[in-house]
Amino acid sequence: MKKTIKLALLPGDGIGPEVMTAALTVLKAVERAYGLSVTVTEGLVGGIAIDTHGTALPKETLSLCETSDAILFGSVGGPKWESLPPEKQPERGALLPLRKHFDLYANLRPAFVYPALIEASPLKNNRLVGGLNILIVRELTSGIYFGKPKGREGSGPSERGFDTMAYSRSEIERIARFAFKTAQNRKKRLVSVDKANVLATMMFWREVVTAIAKEFPDVTLSHLYVDNAAMQLINAPQDFDVILAPNMFGDILSDEAAMITGSIGMLASASLSASGFGLYEPIGGSAPDIAGTNKANPIAQILSLAMLLEHSFALNECATAIHNAIARVLADNYRTRDLVHDDNTREAQQFNILSTQEMGAAIAEKIT
Ligand code: NAD
Repeated sequence: MKKTIKLALLPGDGIGPEVMTAALTVLKAVERAYGLSVTVTEGLVGGIAIDTHGTALPKETLSLCETSDAILFGSVGGPKWESLPPEKQPERGALLPLRKHFDLYANLRPAFVYPALIEASPLKNNRLVGGLNILIVRELTSGIYFGKPKGREGSGPSERGFDTMAYSRSEIERIARFAFKTAQNRKKRLVSVDKANVLATMMFWREVVTAIAKEFPDVTLSHLYVDNAAMQLINAPQDFDVILAPNMFGDILSDEAAMITGSIGMLASASLSASGFGLYEPIGGSAPDIAGTNKANPIAQILSLAMLLEHSFALNECATAIHNAIARVLADNYRTRDLVHDDNTREAQQFNILSTQEMGAAIAEKIT
């Protein structure tokens, strides 16, 4: 168990700095309770880095990440930078290059419902009896987000925009093996999502995933077209264990899964390289509509910290302590605003609405 940790902290834009401050409050409590020694160094990324350095990913930030054990990331982007050329914008200019630079090909997005939050799910509660525990494994460094050619050409009625969806055999094999190994440590059920009925890339994806399944006879593999997967996530979310998805489909399905859990402010993610280096971040964006109001839900950022402690440092005990603290705070009826969908119900009136920093402090207080 590694007890000395060097962390690169990239809060970014919008709600990023607010939810990161709350996560640091929890980190301090974990350090105290478990005798960890964490050195945290902050770097600029995204829009704020464009404003100060003229680029979304300054070289100082990249070298900070290279010399750290792991990266805790907030979120980037906002209306202020939306008129920049696409490759200079915060997400395209910082997040995608960071994923590519460290070859963070495996993106883990766990979606589970805390018992106290079943009421906050937009699904009827009978669909969630017994809870929900899905792990989405999304391919992160290839597919349509990275394929070339990409761009626009021509003018007038024949002007067109285009992207390329492409996967090599080795890219599919490594993410498939990762997903099968992950399923082996869970309920041993893997659903691979594709669009093999229409897209040549996805026919190839299905063929390669099926071939890799032979290496994992203890895992049951099934395939779903992405449109059907989107329906089944709503219809029977409990039927899923591990979902393997190409880049874009994983992006979309994980937002859907997030909503089932009550709010996008509840879901964390880990992006890992083959050597185990990791970047950890909430799945949501910079939420410009609530930035600066101290209303954002910091739990996704705090769960990203828990994933970091578990995956980069095998500090499972610390990660469990964070989960338990969150569960206790929610069970005590503390909520952030996003978790209460209808203020007028009798149930809603029993909740104590906390600010971002109050939620961080409440969770930190329950770390034992
Ligand atoms: P978003 O996730 O920022 O917001 C969608 C909705 O969810 C908003 O109503 C927002 O208030 C709410 N929300 C998100 N996180 C929340 C939280 N923690 N607590 C409470 N409510 C929360 O998505 P968007 O509006 O599509 O994008 C806004 C900006 O974020 C854009 O500039 C986009 O490019 C960027 N973005 C960044 C990332 C990233 O940094 N990884 C990911 C997605 C979007």
